[in-house]
Amino acid sequence: MELFKPLNVQPSEDKRTSSLKENVRCLIIGSGPAGYTAAIYAARANLHPVLYTGMEMGGQLTTTTEVENFPGFPEGVTGPQLMEQMKKQAERFGTDIRFGVAMSADFSHSPLKVTFDDGKTVEAATVIIATGATAKYLGLEAEKKYAGRGVSACATCDGFFYRGKDVAVVGGGDTAAEEATYLAGLCRKVYLVVRRNELRASKAMQQRVFNTPNIEILWEHQAVDLFGEEVVEGAVLVKKKGTPGEEQVRIKIDGFFLAIGHTPNSSVFSKYLETDAAGYIKTVPGTSKTNVPGVFAAGDVQDPHYRQAVTAAGSGCMAAIDAERFLAGS
Ligand code: NDP
Repeated sequence: MELFKPLNVQPSEDKRTSSLKENVRCLIIGSGPAGYTAAIYAARANLHPVLYTGMEMGGQLTTTTEVENFPGFPEGVTGPQLMEQMKKQAERFGTDIRFGVAMSADFSHSPLKVTFDDGKTVEAATVIIATGATAKYLGLEAEKKYAGRGVSACATCDGFFYRGKDVAVVGGGDTAAEEATYLAGLCRKVYLVVRRNELRASKAMQQRVFNTPNIEILWEHQAVDLFGEEVVEGAVLVKKKGTPGEEQVRIKIDGFFLAIGHTPNSSVFSKYLETDAAGYIKTVPGTSKTNVPGVFAAGDVQDPHYRQAVTAAGSGCMAAIDAERFLAGS
């Protein structure tokens, strides 16, 4: 195993080139709970981590309001506040936090190289990828208009705020089935808006949905708009869209949940890293190790199942410890 050796940066005539190159022990990409937790651990282990935030500083939690399920905050905390706290904690131990987006990578040999949108290439002995996943939206204008005011892509995060209310979940896969069943335990009624006349979800999940009395499945319906004064008060659906039997339906709801899948933000690295069919980076079970020595993955970019802030943070911790051990040659 090749241990870290400081790169011999040759003095260059071209100042711009030399300032655009750098060598670090631990490069962390992403500023969600996984990235910041990796930074806290790596910094405390004296790895002098450099963390690039990505486009959405703070990650997906910055788009949620109240977070009530992150341990240690009995009164709850807002997503942006939680991320600010994590950032400060990472900075306290000396993490070099920079705003920037990874544009390309070369993991063909050591040192590992990642180039950012400002043109800078960072050479690193270890790289922790914590770039997260992006929830898919339908692309309606109304989804932006009511973001954080009735529109959510995470039932586990936001479902609690809709206790006793009526909500809709869009999607027909395992996530939609799981979220609809979860919400049914909190809400008065859950509409499951399914674009086809069958669910993609596993048979077991389908059965749970069918057996839940307060879930109503709206087969062959597509959401086309939302309405409401300040917050979501209802959705406009089209039944059998594009057929002679097409019909518009309006439902009154307080919450509109998207569950039509996530896209892991792994494309920049996919030339070198093994991913599953959906693009989630594969790790050696029980570790954060990818197929490339020295490259580790943490958080939602490698997790199609749990996708929680606390699981992301836990895997960020694992990645920093794995990186430290890699550098130590053990
Ligand atoms: P999937 O890709 O499996 O399902 C997405 C669903 O959303 C499909 O029903 C799809 O419809 C629907 N959809 C997609 N685009 C639109 C659109 N524009 N309008 C309306 N509906 C749309 O994603 P999931 O997040 O459900 O699951 C991802 C992976 O994670 C799967 O492998 C799943 O099995 C797994 N998973 C496992 C769980 C578990 O084991 N407990 C829990 C959650 C996820 P259509 O069917 O028509 O294509």
